Amino acid sequence: MDDLWGEACATLETSVGPNNFNHWIKPLRLTGLESGIAHFVSPTRFISDWVNRHFAKDIIGVLSRPGQPVERLRFDVVPQAAPGRARSAASGSAASVRPVASAAAPATTRALRADLGAPLDPRYTFGNFVVGKPNELAHAAARRVAEGGPVGFNPLFLYGGVGLGKTHLMHAIAHDYQMRHPAAQVLYLSAEQFMYRFVQALRESTIMDFKGMFRNVNMLMVDDVQFIAGKDSTQEEFFHTFNALVDQGKQIVISADRAPAEIKGLEERIKSRLSCGLIVDLHPTTYELRLGILQSKTEGFRAQQPDLQIGTGVLEFLAHRITTNVRVLEGALQRLFAHASLLRREITLEVAQECLADILRTNDRKISIDDIQRKVAEHYNIRLADMVGPKRARNIARPRQIAMYLSKQLTSRSLPEIGRRFGGRDHTTIMHGIRKIEELLSEDKAIAEDVAMLKRLLEA
Ligand code: ADP
Ligand code: MG
Repeated sequence: MDDLWGEACATLETSVGPNNFNHWIKPLRLTGLESGIAHFVSPTRFISDWVNRHFAKDIIGVLSRPGQPVERLRFDVVPQAAPGRARSAASGSAASVRPVASAAAPATTRALRADLGAPLDPRYTFGNFVVGKPNELAHAAARRVAEGGPVGFNPLFLYGGVGLGKTHLMHAIAHDYQMRHPAAQVLYLSAEQFMYRFVQALRESTIMDFKGMFRNVNMLMVDDVQFIAGKDSTQEEFFHTFNALVDQGKQIVISADRAPAEIKGLEERIKSRLSCGLIVDLHPTTYELRLGILQSKTEGFRAQQPDLQIGTGVLEFLAHRITTNVRVLEGALQRLFAHASLLRREITLEVAQECLADILRTNDRKISIDDIQRKVAEHYNIRLADMVGPKRARNIARPRQIAMYLSKQLTSRSLPEIGRRFGGRDHTTIMHGIRKIEELLSEDKAIAEDVAMLKRLLEA
């Protein structure tokens, strides 16, 4: 079987390309071939699903023989025992406190990480990351960076609202990269920790050591970099570290809650350096992505608790009703599972509604026209009074129209109601404003980005 698969792999590598091959097909093992079904063992469900969707035809093609066609692929998921691949859903709690890469990393790396960096969450792997439209670009970029080599995405800048998977992706890059390059020094920390270490080094007069340690890493990852905005000497130090590493061709990965240009109090030269690489954003989740995440987490849980019973429509209900972010979605699911395993009851729609009443209520919280006007005024740095006032200058009128547009999109108010809240304007004026923005959305990239960001802020 191994020989047969070995041959097939050689052909597949050329047909799907080495990247795809290494990521998706190499982790598989062919275990049997009978009655037109090829049986595989896959380390994660994610890999087998992906392979089934994207490469089934190729695999079937190379495995079929005259008179012995292969028609389908079947996968058994067997998590690999190798360090770093163990899924926490299947492993004990001891594993979750140990940085996943540490077993494979040399002592110096471990020392460095213990000293400077933050531990990596072993659950945050690519295998556990559900890919959908809103995050597919960020995921693809993260995968590419994790491969190492001359990618040209330096820095990789990931941004997006709270709980959309930035930290998860960064840890996944670190795990994956460390596994491919066991001797490399990967340093992950939050911008807050960066500042803390920096201040500590200043206080203890160990700033040269501090600089030296940062300059020696192969990959530096700084999470939530918006935190250092306005903190001048930390920014300065960050800038130098950043430049030194980029000049040496070391990979940098940064995350923030918004695009570099939108981070107030961040120096211009840093913004422009940050913008040199690849900037990708994680969009707010869609129903499909939320459902995918719920299904994947449920499956993980079921591996531990095979008798878990979830009624039909429960996951769909949650995906529909909990739209804020993935963290809240996960929390809801965890509570449901705990409930189910304590009471040994099937989770029906009624149980879910009762058990999650508080979460469902806050998710129902309506966005108000007030919120919208305030956020938009703040963003464009105009006075709140100008939102409802008579000024017609473009720099006032445009933000006002954006606020009208968002009011229509994000609230259930009618045009006349919106008109009243914008200083008693006529509903035709509101309609005109909304149309104008709709037009601009397709013509003017800056406006489209502003609107997307404001929407994200309001919905967060
Ligand atoms: P952020 O850093 O953007 O605020 P996190 O990476 O901390 O968000 O994600 C919040 C939680 O949601 C984490 O537990 C993470 O594992 C989970 N999560 C987010 N996106 C996904 C995804 N696409 N697939 C699986 N889990 C996800
Ligand atoms: Mg985060």
